[in-house]
Amino acid sequence: MTELVDILRTEHHLSSNGYRSLLTCDDVKVNDYLQSQARQVANDVFGKGIFVRGLIELTNVCRNDCYYCGIRKSNTAVERYMLTAEQVMQCCEQGHKLGFRTFVLQGGELPRDKWQWIAGLVAEIKTSWYDCAVTLSLGEWPKDVYKEFRKAGADRYLLRHESHNATHYSMLHPAEMSLNNRLQCLNWLKELGFQVGTGIMAGSPWQTLDNIVEDIEFIENFQPEMIGLGPFVPQHETPLGNHATGSAVLTCKLYSIFRLMFPNALIPSTTALNSIDSHGRIKGIMAGANVVMPNLSPTNVRELYALYDGKSSVNAEAAEGIAQLEAQLKTIGYHINWSRGDFNKCTIHNAHNTQFIMHNFSTQN
Ligand code: SAH
Repeated sequence: MTELVDILRTEHHLSSNGYRSLLTCDDVKVNDYLQSQARQVANDVFGKGIFVRGLIELTNVCRNDCYYCGIRKSNTAVERYMLTAEQVMQCCEQGHKLGFRTFVLQGGELPRDKWQWIAGLVAEIKTSWYDCAVTLSLGEWPKDVYKEFRKAGADRYLLRHESHNATHYSMLHPAEMSLNNRLQCLNWLKELGFQVGTGIMAGSPWQTLDNIVEDIEFIENFQPEMIGLGPFVPQHETPLGNHATGSAVLTCKLYSIFRLMFPNALIPSTTALNSIDSHGRIKGIMAGANVVMPNLSPTNVRELYALYDGKSSVNAEAAEGIAQLEAQLKTIGYHINWSRGDFNKCTIHNAHNTQFIMHNFSTQN
């Protein structure tokens, strides 16, 4: 079975059956090998540096009603908030002083007439912090709106496809949301020149092995710059609140598979992983992830941005706990890389691996 890992490392691709075998393999030796190969590839490309992004949770107001999400519009138990532009600028100022050079604005999906406000906010951030990247994670909008976000200076966009199987997608979302629209949005974002991130929740309700293989194959085909992936975690006020939590092992295995598929991809070790496993952040990095997104939101709104139960937003998961993060990374021989950390097709960190990087470069073109 280790041959499959070797093939994935050199060819960045497996057959559907190959992915299926790796995903179902419970041989500790093979899984350790998969992880060590993924970590080696991440080290070759990025060294021991981990990129950080300051996460600003803009709002928990949402027009959508995703069955898994704690800020879905039907959840009347959550108090709604929306940061003012001034508050967002203050978060950025604090983040910039701490050394952050990427700000991620994430939130529920605001009413459609708010697009100008968002575009204005992006422009204000980019003018004040011209050395920083802005990532948006604000869900589905018409193409023209994405275009305005891009014109305002947004560099990256995170939009997980959640599931590439239409039936499974419809089990996670209400009828007014469609997989086709989600995929259309991803294509627009790519066309408009964003660095695009997509992904899934590992272990989301009713997710089958075939679903995951389909997701991997979609991602392989889509060639995102970023891959966002964390375990599903139930939120008690949602219709899926009594489903089981996704597994940290599966999440880490997927990080490793994606690292071998995409040596240069930006893959965060997510807050969700660290929320279900106190060593999750480190496990994610050891499995090949290379980004961490500490929370920069004002502390008084953090608990209102309750996507799932037990979401962590303190200590090393918080911007003000950056020293703890640095210390934690040091224990495994890693450090924070404070640069913007844009996607780079041909990063060559380790000169011995020029050949493999160039191979990857040519296959991605
Ligand atoms: N409205 C934006 C941002 C949503 S929050 C959007 O739809 O893209 C970002 C991600 O959090 C979602 O894509 C989803 O995958 C994840 N998320 C939401 N609820 C979750 C839950 N209960 N468990 C784990 N992840 C969850």
